[in-house]
Amino acid sequence: MAEHEHVRVAVVGTGFGGLGAAVRLRREGVTDFVVLERADSVGGTWRDNSYPGCACDVPSHLYSFSFAPHPDWPRTFSGQQHIRAYLEHVTDVFRLRPHIRLNSEVKRMTWDGEKLRWDIETASGRLSADLVVSATGPLSDPKVPDIPGLDSFPGKVFHSARWDHDYDLRGKRVAMVGTGASAIQIVPAIQPLARNVTLFQRTPPWVMPRMDRAISGAERRLHRLLPFTAQVRRGLLWGIRELQVQAFTKRPGELGAVEQLAKRNMARAIKDPALRAKLTPDYRIGCKRILLSSTYYPALAQPNVDVVASGLSRVEGSTLVAADGTEAQVDAIVFGTGFHVTDMPIADRVVGADGRTLAEAWKGGMEALRGASAAGFPNWMSVIGPNTGLGNSSMILMIESQLNYLADFVRQLDVLGGRAALDARPAAVAAWNHRVQERMKRTVWNTGGCTSWYLDANGRNSTIWPGTTTEFRRATRRVDLAEYEVLRPSAPANAVTDESTEAAV
Ligand SMILES: Cc1cc2nc3c(=O)[nH]c(=O)nc-3n(C[C@H](O)[C@H](O)[C@H](O)COP(=O)(O)OP(=O)(O)OC[C@H]3O[C@@H](n4cnc5c(N)ncnc54)[C@H](O)[C@@H]3O)c2cc1C
Repeated sequence: MAEHEHVRVAVVGTGFGGLGAAVRLRREGVTDFVVLERADSVGGTWRDNSYPGCACDVPSHLYSFSFAPHPDWPRTFSGQQHIRAYLEHVTDVFRLRPHIRLNSEVKRMTWDGEKLRWDIETASGRLSADLVVSATGPLSDPKVPDIPGLDSFPGKVFHSARWDHDYDLRGKRVAMVGTGASAIQIVPAIQPLARNVTLFQRTPPWVMPRMDRAISGAERRLHRLLPFTAQVRRGLLWGIRELQVQAFTKRPGELGAVEQLAKRNMARAIKDPALRAKLTPDYRIGCKRILLSSTYYPALAQPNVDVVASGLSRVEGSTLVAADGTEAQVDAIVFGTGFHVTDMPIADRVVGADGRTLAEAWKGGMEALRGASAAGFPNWMSVIGPNTGLGNSSMILMIESQLNYLADFVRQLDVLGGRAALDARPAAVAAWNHRVQERMKRTVWNTGGCTSWYLDANGRNSTIWPGTTTEFRRATRRVDLAEYEVLRPSAPANAVTDESTEAAV
């Protein structure tokens, strides 16, 4: 085989996860690493989702890296463009560009048990790495449902995460399929332009008012002059959410009062009782992601918007037919139907120690030790892996905890010395997962009476962390070597077990 480049660490993805990993590796003194990205620029979610109205649901003083504060956030909830610009800025300030390989989609990663390294095939060539950090994002591969007749639809079709900015929606009859976080931002943005909008709603979301406002020049100056004021602001935003999460994880019964607030938000804008009935959820608030908008309901009350309280079932020419038989003639279909979350495509491309892909290993559901390491996939870690998602706070908090774990993983490999790899013990993965699933039982995500994208094909919640961000931070502070087998190249077939690792979980 031709010689190829070898690096100590290959990071995959340039969203918050991949860029954060790169910063953290440099801080740990690791400079021999690359960051592989399939697109032609950095930014992940905030590069790909450029649909009209795209914005964050977490205030930006919390939805940003703790190590890269930004005193100049223009609004309490930033729009996509500002977050994307922030990530470009982080890339420059931390001098990450020399490490980044754009247009380098990872096609396959195969574990070489003899050399203890990953062989990686990318769109721009081959390389190998001692350690892989997979930060390909839980919401990065759009999912479009298999709708009969869609292929023969004569108009325009696109997914919210692949917005076609060359297509002019002005004066068009537009179908919006889905009522998730993206759809509720898109509808108010396109309603004033389109001739009409038909919204296909399988399940109505709970929608709370969005307390968005411009951050004043005085506030920004204060944050610039006295950086601790921005930290205090972040701390408050974090603390409120940290307290709220108890209701989701332990006391879903208390959420009734929040439902009343959401109902009032709806009643303010929707005066028609029939429409209100269509839009009122029949499951506990929080079971699906709570959405924030002060413009969604007012847009739905406009005469050029129709809410079809039924999913799109088939397409016949330019006629869309809902499951309840309602028909609509449209020029364009926008799918706000989410992403491949519990069946992430990267899992098909990772081949572990026993020749199985991660997708095969995860056939019964995704599982990884502390959200990072899957058994049989040595020196391979995911950022925002299984059960690391949040229902109510900033994912950046979880990403930073996982980066702490990554940093200690690298330190542990240094301490072991020589060529070594760490493979999560199946018993440790099972024990971790058992703890997570036990805690999950009483959460609103499992008991709230809804079906959501948090649940996998087997109905198991393999996406959400059923605790506080503080608990996750504590759980990922250190790598416990007892939870791993230490592999050495001298005995490729049989793992050498260090004495220090005898005490399994
Ligand atoms: C519209 C939208 C709104 C959101 N709002 C919020 C919010 O309000 N609050 C919140 O906490 N979270 C929100 N999220 C979740 C958000 O995805 C996370 O907060 C976070 O940005 C994820 O970062 P990441 O780096 O893990 O993944 P991403 O940002 O998705 O980055 C993954 C990167 O990996 C690249 N990649 C994927 N596969 C490959 C491959 N095979 N080879 C090479 N590169 C690859 C992708 O191109 C991408 O650049 C939102 C998500 C979306 C889609």
